[in-house]
Amino acid sequence: MKAVLVSVLDLAPEVRHFVFEVPEVERLHFKPGQFISFQETLGGKKITRPYSIASLPDGNRFELCLNLVHGGIFSPYLFQMRPGDAVEMSAPLGFFVVRNPDKDAVFIATGTGIAPFRSMAPDYLSHPQAKELTLIFGVRYEHSLYYRDEFEALARRHANFRFWPTLSRPEPSWSARTGHVQIHLLEAIGDRRDLDVYICGLKAMVDDVRGILKALGFDRKQIIFEKYD
Ligand SMILES: Cc1cc2nc3c(=O)[nH]c(=O)nc-3n(C[C@H](O)[C@H](O)[C@H](O)COP(=O)(O)OP(=O)(O)OC[C@H]3O[C@@H](n4cnc5c(N)ncnc54)[C@H](O)[C@@H]3O)c2cc1C
Repeated sequence: MKAVLVSVLDLAPEVRHFVFEVPEVERLHFKPGQFISFQETLGGKKITRPYSIASLPDGNRFELCLNLVHGGIFSPYLFQMRPGDAVEMSAPLGFFVVRNPDKDAVFIATGTGIAPFRSMAPDYLSHPQAKELTLIFGVRYEHSLYYRDEFEALARRHANFRFWPTLSRPEPSWSARTGHVQIHLLEAIGDRRDLDVYICGLKAMVDDVRGILKALGFDRKQIIFEKYD
């Protein structure tokens, strides 16, 4: 299939929101949290890279949230695309999806690891049996809290949703949470050991959070994760 770029929006320095459509299908079927893969021949080699879908199912459209990796291969290619350009893609896949909407859950993201949660959080909250959900979103700077308005609006609409942004390099004007997501995880779970915890971001953070949860006695089935590297 070909994905055609419809529009882009810069979310922060070197972080961009992409809207694509797939003209040859009427509907792109996927579960919130799944990823698509792009393929292109770059530098004479066929390169494939997966990207989490950052939107709810919506006809043949899907959205992505990407950061530019300096010295990388595929992200610079996607960042030079203009509306109307096309890229080869394969159908959505992946097991990073909401398992038990009837259980309390914590979502943990750093950086563009927020992408699947932009789809999974409203999806989770739309289930009639949805319980308490906390999203902990860690970035360095306030200007990198992509989709902040959307998550704050979601929290206003759903009393069972808590949105906890945290900054590791806050400006003095920031009076909310600071430090790494790991610190706030402990507050979010408290004495509870019956929650599902979903983690998405780079390996170092994901492995660290998994290690903390295992040490606290969480079962591996309760820890659902997606590593970007
Ligand atoms: C299931 C899955 C979903 C993904 N979803 C997203 C997504 O929604 N948004 C997104 O930006 N990336 C996502 N990625 C990462 C993406 O597939 C690429 O690895 C990334 O775009 C870098 O590719 P590259 O060819 O430019 O760099 P490469 O040449 O492949 O890698 C250069 C270096 O960048 C590191 N790296 C990989 N991803 C990132 C990142 N996001 N930030 C910083 N460093 C990184 C790698 O460890 C590697 O050392 C996802 C990865 C997986 C496995």
